[in-house]
Amino acid sequence: MQSAFDSMEFRRALGCFATGVTVITTPTDEGAVHGMTANAFTSVSLEPPLVLVSVDRKTRTHGLIASSGRFAVNILREDQAPVSQHFAGKPNPDVEQGLAYAWYDDIPYLEDCLASLACKLWASYDGGDHTLYLGEVLNIVVRDGDPLLFFRSKYRQIQP
Ligand SMILES: Cc1cc2nc3c(=O)[nH]c(=O)nc-3n(C[C@H](O)[C@H](O)[C@H](O)COP(=O)(O)OP(=O)(O)OC[C@H]3O[C@@H](n4cnc5c(N)ncnc54)[C@H](O)[C@@H]3O)c2cc1C
Repeated sequence: MQSAFDSMEFRRALGCFATGVTVITTPTDEGAVHGMTANAFTSVSLEPPLVLVSVDRKTRTHGLIASSGRFAVNILREDQAPVSQHFAGKPNPDVEQGLAYAWYDDIPYLEDCLASLACKLWASYDGGDHTLYLGEVLNIVVRDGDPLLFFRSKYRQIQP
């Protein structure tokens, strides 16, 4: 049976689901760090602690997670929309200059964000043009602050 909607309508419907914004960091083969903005993130299991991120097969991150078996989910703070834009392929020299990474074993994560979850790849599932990467969370860092939100293609903040 054919879909009763086109891809624009599908995107509009998905955009009604308000999310936070994350940057997925993963090591490169050369031991450097690569990052990518993602909002297709969800918690999965408490025991064992598992989270999921859906990654487009066309991204660089897709191959890097598959080859390293490591990634971190960095949840952005309300003032970090420029960081999200930077890691979504719109490079910003000011953002780049301010970036700093810490490592948990061989998993890199952002030093400055709301929370980071360092993960070992647990399983990968076919998600059409995306792959669903499940990570077992090995370490977490949580800081004070409010989250950056994304709703109907726009960055938002929690209103009082
Ligand atoms: C709000 C939002 C949510 C998104 N959600 C998802 C999602 O859930 N899943 C998905 O697959 N795509 C998502 N995307 C799209 C995704 O972020 C882009 O397609 C991204 O460009 C893919 O990154 P890449 O791995 O191909 O790397 P590239 O496009 O090559 O790099 C991404 C950007 O990060 C910069 N960068 C990377 N590493 C570093 C580093 N170490 N230091 C400094 N800068 C660095 C690069 O300069 C570049 O600007 C989302 C985009 C937005 C705006």
